Amino acid sequence: MNDGLGRPITYLRVSVTDRCNLRCHYCFTRPTPFIPHPDILRYEEVLALMGLARNLGVTKVRFTGGEPFARKGFPGFLEAARACYPELDLRLTTNATLLPPHVPLLVRSGIKRVNISLDSLDPATFERITGADLFSAVRGAIDACLSAGLKVKMNVVAMKGVNDHELPALVDFARKTPLDLRFIEYMPIGGSTRWTPWKVWPAGDILDEARGLAELTPVLPKAGDRGPARVYAIEGGLGRLGFITPLSCHFCAECNRLRLTASGNLRTCLFSDREYRLRPMLRHERL
Ligand code: SAM
Repeated sequence: MNDGLGRPITYLRVSVTDRCNLRCHYCFTRPTPFIPHPDILRYEEVLALMGLARNLGVTKVRFTGGEPFARKGFPGFLEAARACYPELDLRLTTNATLLPPHVPLLVRSGIKRVNISLDSLDPATFERITGADLFSAVRGAIDACLSAGLKVKMNVVAMKGVNDHELPALVDFARKTPLDLRFIEYMPIGGSTRWTPWKVWPAGDILDEARGLAELTPVLPKAGDRGPARVYAIEGGLGRLGFITPLSCHFCAECNRLRLTASGNLRTCLFSDREYRLRPMLRHERL
């Protein structure tokens, strides 16, 4: 499966639910109606689409949401996905609040990499951002994943006036912890109605400030690695810093992915509203 420029599409991101147990102000600001349950793809339907994608050349599937663990039966679905497709590289993006008891399941299911969203190292700021007093659950989940041998990427949405004052603590955390701490530029997407340009903390500015705190060396991407982050090693550190720059520097040239929404719509571009409805085809319903 190639895109319009002849580049192979090898990566599928599957949103298993639009529900989330957090109310992060950059993502979910107003009570938008949730997708009615019958319109959400059943797990068997997701598995069927994963099989089709695999047959077309997809090698990597990431489950995301909403919050994947907020959907009933998600741990069992992960096991089923692994049993059906042992050859696929399965990954996960989660807020990790519900993850701790399931870390052994991830290991059993051969999931080697987990992206965990944590925008602040301060419990009070975490609660202000997410609306939930669950900082210690997320921190505990990061430690549990690392102890279990999983590779962890910690995603931090970079917001001026919200978490920019934490840069020294974040750099220090990445220095002492064997993970990739990635700053994501704050995007005007989804329910992020509080987005304003002056809250955007551009990756270039973060990098300049971070260079004053640590010696950073760019890490060249491995051949075939077309991820969106630019990564820097920290001199004498265990972890690394990464920068995802959807606003200041589009990564369209490196894009190799498709997105499947919880209701079964295929999106070929994060910045386009165009979607292709697969659910009616799966259910043999009228388009
Ligand atoms: N619930 C899961 C989580 O928290 O990781 C998965 C879904 S969440 C929408 C996926 C990622 O998108 C998270 O890392 C989150 O921080 C990021 N995100 C959400 N809204 C964003 C925004 N307005 N700008 C930048 N990143 C955003």
